[in-house]
Amino acid sequence: MKKAYNSTRSKDINVSASQGILQGLAPDGGLFVPNFIRDIQLDPTKFSGKNYGEMAEVIFAAFLNDFSEKQIKDAIQGAYYSGKFEEKEPVALKKIKDRFFLELFHGPTCAFKDMALTILPYFMVESIKNMKSDNKILILTATSGDTGKAALEGFANVPDISIIVFYPQDGVSTIQEKQMLTQAGDNTCVVGVNGNFDDTQNGVKEILNDSQLAKELEKSNVLFSSANSINIGRLLPQVVYYFYSYYELLKRGEITAGEKINFVVPTGNFGNILAGYYASLLGLPVNKLICASNANKVLTDFFKTGTYDRNREFYKTSSPSMDILISSNLERLLYDVSGSDPKTVSQLMEELKDQGNYQASKALMEKADLFYAGTADETQTAQSIKNIFDETHYLMDPHTAVANKVYEDYLKETGDPTKTVIVSTASPYKFGRSVYESIFGPSEMDDYALLDLLAQKTDTSIPLPLKDLDKKENKHHNQCEKADMFRAVLSFLDQQVEKHD
Ligand SMILES: *Cc1c(COP(=O)(O)O)cnc(C)c1O
Repeated sequence: MKKAYNSTRSKDINVSASQGILQGLAPDGGLFVPNFIRDIQLDPTKFSGKNYGEMAEVIFAAFLNDFSEKQIKDAIQGAYYSGKFEEKEPVALKKIKDRFFLELFHGPTCAFKDMALTILPYFMVESIKNMKSDNKILILTATSGDTGKAALEGFANVPDISIIVFYPQDGVSTIQEKQMLTQAGDNTCVVGVNGNFDDTQNGVKEILNDSQLAKELEKSNVLFSSANSINIGRLLPQVVYYFYSYYELLKRGEITAGEKINFVVPTGNFGNILAGYYASLLGLPVNKLICASNANKVLTDFFKTGTYDRNREFYKTSSPSMDILISSNLERLLYDVSGSDPKTVSQLMEELKDQGNYQASKALMEKADLFYAGTADETQTAQSIKNIFDETHYLMDPHTAVANKVYEDYLKETGDPTKTVIVSTASPYKFGRSVYESIFGPSEMDDYALLDLLAQKTDTSIPLPLKDLDKKENKHHNQCEKADMFRAVLSFLDQQVEKHD
């Protein structure tokens, strides 16, 4: 079988890595998956003694089948080692109590999305070259808050690529919104949508799937793509830090070679935790992947019962990047556990679309037994932030706090002594109000003043990208209804095409 990426909904759709990265979503609405993932076995000796970038090289080389070694090296250098991240290594692993926090928020926008979105623009530019294409790319992105800013930052002023970001107007934090609205770059556009994240994501998927529009665009040499975690180019960079944490624990003598570890992942769209699953398929010794949800616990229910049901109340929580009822990347897990069966996946996805729910068979669920799932409500999340701070002086953002609470429930239930890494997805300062109020109680102060107070009272510092954000001028002022997202894209496109002419 030829190494290719095929759609989760049809094996007749076969593309190269570059094509998959540029297209984002398969034309039948499925997601691209490498048909060779279960054939890759990465030799553990390839990882010891390596830094983050060198590990990334090994992993990318296994997946990006039409990229040269130089293309991969340059992308890694540009993304992770050219001053975009705070420290020498892009991520940090910290031991707090009996557990480890893998801090993925030291990039330009203070959330883990930077791990993938600093490198995706390099992948796309090289993919255009690999395809010998003279197309321009328009990136269409729906965001629950963090992807938007990270994608804008990654793609701003990249030649031949423009980006439009849609976010749910009342579904992101003040800081998240301000980060997006102040984004510089002629090739960027930000639009607030009157709806929630699922509406926004569905809107984007519909536009990406509109074949009429795609034809129109082809005439002007423009190709749509996506920076959401449905893009395989977004997913692969996330595999790296699972390996990195493992070998870091090994280096520190916390585990012995081959010993299994757990990861707890605060989950929304199921992208991050799926990357952990892919890491395990590549041979990383994983005991459990613990899927942590906030009050929107559609995934917890799924892993406990096999029924996925989005017909339920939607909650706005203090962890907005996980306020999601349709976890797109679950489709890739279903594909793998069905033994790469596009028929099964298509049927389940059809049911999800038509009736809002589906029931996965017992056989499928048994194959997904690497996963454990749990949930934390708003009170428990706040309590978790306070407890850890009171006990250790460590600050967690609400997403990470959801994971921490679910881990504690898991410990109580199982007594599992396995070493555990909590994937820490955002800087506490990105959600400063929630963090402050969880520890010190309600405050009347405005969101920005509260960041200063949080720093003062906890003796920590505001990360540079979030400092003085309130003094920056808004550059974007667009808002629209769900039904008008299409029109917003067309009008931005007109602007961009004029600019190029
Ligand atoms: C996006 C995001 C998540 C959820 O990640 P998924 O890959 O969508 O599951 C969790 N925490 C933060 C801070 C995020 O930005």
